[in-house]
Amino acid sequence: MNFDWNYLFSLALYPDFWRATALVAWLGVLTWVIGTVLGFLLALARQSALRPVRWFAKTYIWLFRSLPLLVLLIFVYNLPQFAPSLSPVLSVPFWAGLIALVISETAYLAEIHRAGLISVDQGQHEAAHALGVRPVGKYRHIILPQAIRVALPSLGNEFITIVKLTSLVSVISLAEILLVGQRLYTRNFMVIETLVAVSFYYVLVVSVFGLFLSRLEKRLDIARMTGAEITAPANVVTEAPATARRVSDEVVVALDHVRKDFGDKRALADVSLKVNKGEVVSIIGPSGSGKTTLIRTINALQDIDAGRIVLDGGDWISAEGNYRLAADFHDRVTRLGMVFQSFNLFPHMTVLKNVTFGPRYHGSGNTDALRAAAMGHLARVGMASHANKYPHQLSGGQKQRVAIARALAMDPEIMLFDEPTSALDPELVGEVLQVIESLARDGMTMIIVTHEMRFVSRVSDRVVMMEDGHVVADMTATELEASPADSRIRRFMLQG
Ligand code: ADP
Ligand code: MG
Repeated sequence: MNFDWNYLFSLALYPDFWRATALVAWLGVLTWVIGTVLGFLLALARQSALRPVRWFAKTYIWLFRSLPLLVLLIFVYNLPQFAPSLSPVLSVPFWAGLIALVISETAYLAEIHRAGLISVDQGQHEAAHALGVRPVGKYRHIILPQAIRVALPSLGNEFITIVKLTSLVSVISLAEILLVGQRLYTRNFMVIETLVAVSFYYVLVVSVFGLFLSRLEKRLDIARMTGAEITAPANVVTEAPATARRVSDEVVVALDHVRKDFGDKRALADVSLKVNKGEVVSIIGPSGSGKTTLIRTINALQDIDAGRIVLDGGDWISAEGNYRLAADFHDRVTRLGMVFQSFNLFPHMTVLKNVTFGPRYHGSGNTDALRAAAMGHLARVGMASHANKYPHQLSGGQKQRVAIARALAMDPEIMLFDEPTSALDPELVGEVLQVIESLARDGMTMIIVTHEMRFVSRVSDRVVMMEDGHVVADMTATELEASPADSRIRRFMLQG
């Protein structure tokens, strides 16, 4: 038997094949798009704090990944036998096929999304929290754009799987590519030629979408996003007159008998602390003494087990009741500007966008005004000329200065710093400390966890030392100077 080339070429123009190809493409794309959206929601549900939601998502994924698609297809198609009201939809092979495919694929796509979501650093969630971004905004603007980059290659792969799985839909007599081929070769017995044509049409669908997806991947590639330096005026850390500093009697933040446990470990044991307006408080102490926990409880990154925290004279955080549900929670959290040890800039946004994001999200001011204000904050930290760059183009010290500008853009009452220079190379520490010092001179209220002892003695109005979850020393700069050289705090400062 000879291979019939003429017959094969004639199949290139066979209208039923083209109709079937369009159908497969359409079915594949619809399944993929709907499954990708539902799968994302399911992946979020799997990470939910609510146990029943988590349980539902887990069970769904387990069940529909275990069930063969063929079984599901026949099941869905025949469901109207029990529920005749479903007949108008489920007795149509296309809809029955689509529904079965979506049900099954959502389970797989959810796991792909979960991989993407897990890959986004926890610091991104924390940075969003510090800017007062609500969950929907956080996922939309910060988490999803980063997660999707990781998930995209696997999502694309799943599209190919879906296209191939559509061949199973022929069992419920939907005229997709394979079924058209089968109908041909059962009449003319030219099985090989017909299957070559069938393969060609499948490969065509997959290749066209493969091309589209690889384009999309390139567009979303952060490493390819670059911005040039620009000429901007006043690219120096501005110095305010030394007379500007004054500590007032007004209390901005007060911790009242705060306790925090992590299992058996007591991270904070009955900590009370008041910070006045304009005051710069340095927090020092050995590693593991509770400094980070202390600062994270103040801006609600960490719940507390006992006590309460007052902000601007009003109730803010308490161990009882769910203060997070308060209508103004996300606005009040922006009263506290937070700077993290690991910067936590948003990698998919330019420097300028990192700074404008918070104010824009909270809807304050028009675009031009926001931009101008952000450029002002960037100039303040000496980063205006880098406004168009992306975080991956910056040094650690530059990133941290942008992070400070981002926090300042929310016009906070008080700035919280958690070891802002610990992740930096020694030669970059100075530029960040200089910025913090200039903020101190301008009268900004600040709580700074740091190991830089020379900086502590230069800028702090007060030094608080922690040990094993307790505040073991709390004294003004003058008291510190007057304290005996062999006191605990002086000894610790000398070691540091
Ligand atoms: P510091 O910042 O002073 O080094 P931390 O506040 O980070 O100390 O930690 C205080 C103590 O609480 C440490 O013993 C640490 O191991 C523990 N701890 C902190 N965060 C957690 C957590 N999320 N889960 C369990 N233990 C934690
Ligand atoms: Mg720490």
